[in-house]
Amino acid sequence: MPARINSSHWLQTAPDFSSDAVTLPARAEIAILGAGVMASALAYWLARRGQSPLAVERNPIPSAGATGRSGGLHATGPNHAYATAIERFGRASAREIFAATILNQQLLEDVLAREAIDADYAVTGFLSLAARADEVETLRASARELSADGFPAEGLDRDAAGGFE
Ligand SMILES: Cc1cc2nc3c(=O)[nH]c(=O)nc-3n(C[C@H](O)[C@H](O)[C@H](O)COP(=O)(O)OP(=O)(O)OC[C@H]3O[C@@H](n4cnc5c(N)ncnc54)[C@H](O)[C@@H]3O)c2cc1C
Repeated sequence: MPARINSSHWLQTAPDFSSDAVTLPARAEIAILGAGVMASALAYWLARRGQSPLAVERNPIPSAGATGRSGGLHATGPNHAYATAIERFGRASAREIFAATILNQQLLEDVLAREAIDADYAVTGFLSLAARADEVETLRASARELSADGFPAEGLDRDAAGGFE
């Protein structure tokens, strides 16, 4: 295996797939390219629906792309601060995105339980820290908007957040 892809905790501790030589079938009902988290999730849920997807990965082990390098955080919410997401996408879409990511957490917990996967998974809250003065108001507005939309959130000052510098 090239050293390039053997560069994270996940990849260093992955099982050895190199001896699992398989002969690819000539045809597949559904072919999925890649075996990162997106392709694997797609294959899993299609299989749960009774279909027979074939996932084909170009690397010697699955998840050798971004997935095998991730920090392992299953985050909630849009990529932007919630107040920014409302500005960009509208309140209804921002709320829908947030709710979808919470549903995703529940689905992940269901999958881990159903498949008896011990992943040390824990659902936690999260703390967003403003790195610049202008981000403080955005995060405070986000906390207000999240609360208004029914998601528990709180704006903290520096002392309450633990005195981070
Ligand atoms: C350092 C780092 C840390 C991150 N931390 C987090 C985190 O904590 N939480 C989080 O939610 N996200 C995190 N991310 C983002 C997250 O890892 C990615 O969004 C996610 O893994 C993307 O999954 P993917 O399946 O789309 O892509 P990938 O995991 O890259 O999978 C694509 C796969 O397709 C294969 N492939 C491509 N083309 C072909 C082809 N033609 N034929 C066959 N196979 C092919 C590739 O080899 C690869 O295995 C992080 C990303 C990085 C880089």
